[in-house]
Amino acid sequence: MKAKYEYIFSFIEHKLRKNRLLLVTLWHFEIRKKKNEKKMKVKFMCLSSGSSGNCFYLGTEHYGILIDAGISLRSIRKTLKDINVDMSTLRGVFVTHDHADHIKSVGNIGEKCNIPIYSTKLVHQGIRKSYCVTQELSAINIRYIEKDKTIDVEDFHITAFEVPHDGTDNVGYHIQIDGKIFCFLTDLGEITPTVQKHIEQANYLIIEANYDRDMLMSGKYPMHLKQRIYGDHGHLCNDATGDFLANHFPKDLRYIWLCHLSKDNNQPNIAYHTVKQKLEEKGIIVDKDVQLFALQRTIPSKLFTFE
Ligand SMILES: [Zn+2]
Ligand SMILES: [Zn+2]
Repeated sequence: MKAKYEYIFSFIEHKLRKNRLLLVTLWHFEIRKKKNEKKMKVKFMCLSSGSSGNCFYLGTEHYGILIDAGISLRSIRKTLKDINVDMSTLRGVFVTHDHADHIKSVGNIGEKCNIPIYSTKLVHQGIRKSYCVTQELSAINIRYIEKDKTIDVEDFHITAFEVPHDGTDNVGYHIQIDGKIFCFLTDLGEITPTVQKHIEQANYLIIEANYDRDMLMSGKYPMHLKQRIYGDHGHLCNDATGDFLANHFPKDLRYIWLCHLSKDNNQPNIAYHTVKQKLEEKGIIVDKDVQLFALQRTIPSKLFTFE
């Protein structure tokens, strides 16, 4: 008889344990689901843009990355501090190419802050040879990436892709964070099919509008420099960027920042109005269908936050 009761009790106990286990599992599952459903906050800021130095910050609540580091470590640190971002949250600098205005402080950032510097093998070779990088990067802070191969760094899924420019090697970046796609195109002579493919996927686009065609052609630059700038491996002008976006407007594009404006051959209001007019001629209304900004060369932009 006793054995029978013991059997019943142990049967009930077993069932209860099983149900409790089920409840705990369901509870954990619910928490995880809620966590996954919570949208990540994404922060973007331009610290500097143009031939005097380029640097962009992209961050989430916990981590951040830089795209290019062509200004001093001191001013990067100060500008990030002003928006409450500590250098220790940075997980990498992603370099577009080896021109001085994009790499000036990669050596210092790598060595003094222990932040890895990511780029292609050829760009790293260019960095090693560059006169403007005074601090040599040690192997531990060098990370090689390959074009068209996505890498994951914390919250960021990053793909470098080929762009036509006259550095040793040149890439644009397609960066996906929690479903939001940022596309960085700082220096490029023309929009190739590869570049077009990435622009078409972007929700947030940082694209060059380097010069106003008339200002360049009537300006004081020597002819060989003018040819370099407007060549297929030089820079994009306001018209080219505006025409392309007006004719191939990406369906999910929400924000455009015009970057790398020339000091001598452009003005933020000229770049802005040229692109705005071209978009509006095709029925794309700025401030309604898309937000448009022309980035200042040396003044940091405001901090943009997206949920
Ligand atoms: Zn540049
Ligand atoms: Zn360049």
